Amino acid sequence: MSAAGAEFSAAGGDLPAGGDATVLSVAIRAKTYRPKGAEPVEAVRDLAFAVGRGEIVCLIGPSGAGKTTTLRILLGLDPDFEGRVAGAEGAGMVFQEPRLLPWRSVEHNVRLGLPRPERGARDLDALFERLGLGPWRARYPGALSLGMQRRVALARALASGPRVLVLDEPFVSLDDAAAAGLRALVVDAVDTAGTSVLMVTHNVAEAIAVADRLLLVSKRPASLVADVALDRPRGARDRAWADATRQALAQRHPEVIAE
Ligand code: ADP
Ligand code: MG
Repeated sequence: MSAAGAEFSAAGGDLPAGGDATVLSVAIRAKTYRPKGAEPVEAVRDLAFAVGRGEIVCLIGPSGAGKTTTLRILLGLDPDFEGRVAGAEGAGMVFQEPRLLPWRSVEHNVRLGLPRPERGARDLDALFERLGLGPWRARYPGALSLGMQRRVALARALASGPRVLVLDEPFVSLDDAAAAGLRALVVDAVDTAGTSVLMVTHNVAEAIAVADRLLLVSKRPASLVADVALDRPRGARDRAWADATRQALAQRHPEVIAE
């Protein structure tokens, strides 16, 4: 799946810049759902951030805060908002539900992540191998575990070699080993291809393990509470550092992060 369009803009507003290396910038002033026959729901207010090249940014906030809404806006899937977003064109995306076509093979599902003219032709052997999907190419999604289905969804998102990968709680309800395996694949894409990642997660430990930066958002309407850089290199993060980091965050932002 790919986000279409160039720069999505509703009512203007300044975009945050992070220098030349900024690949994605978001400045949502307001987003309100107006369901017919029900009260309006203000989902996002004053949420601005940028993601740099090769950076992994994790967005953390309470359930129902407006995180998925934010991702849909920046991907250009919801044009009904006030503000501006730029840089997500061509982004690869993985949602919480793998969203695979059950009547298509793994191979076919992954190829749906390619632009139509390249779908049949592109050599994806390396991608299937890297993601451990080689033996599964001819199988159908129904024959796969949830973890493998998510792997297929990740392969589909990576198929076109996107500059930006947007992930919405992609590892929920996987066991620790399956989640760690998928996380490693995402980190590998960043390390080898310089992909930029924006990932929504509920899992604070996961965010602390992989993120270069954490964006903490408030309960609905989602607005930015803190933008926290995690400076220690990913490979040098041990249990003690992770525990201390989490504790410091929980003390400073108890409304977002529990001890
Ligand atoms: P999160 O991903 O942080 O859990 P969402 O962005 O999915 O939260 O939703 C934010 C709020 O907006 C929730 O209260 C949700 O019920 C509401 N919401 C989401 N989509 C719609 C919609 N299409 N119409 C009305 N309200 C919606
Ligand atoms: Mg959500």
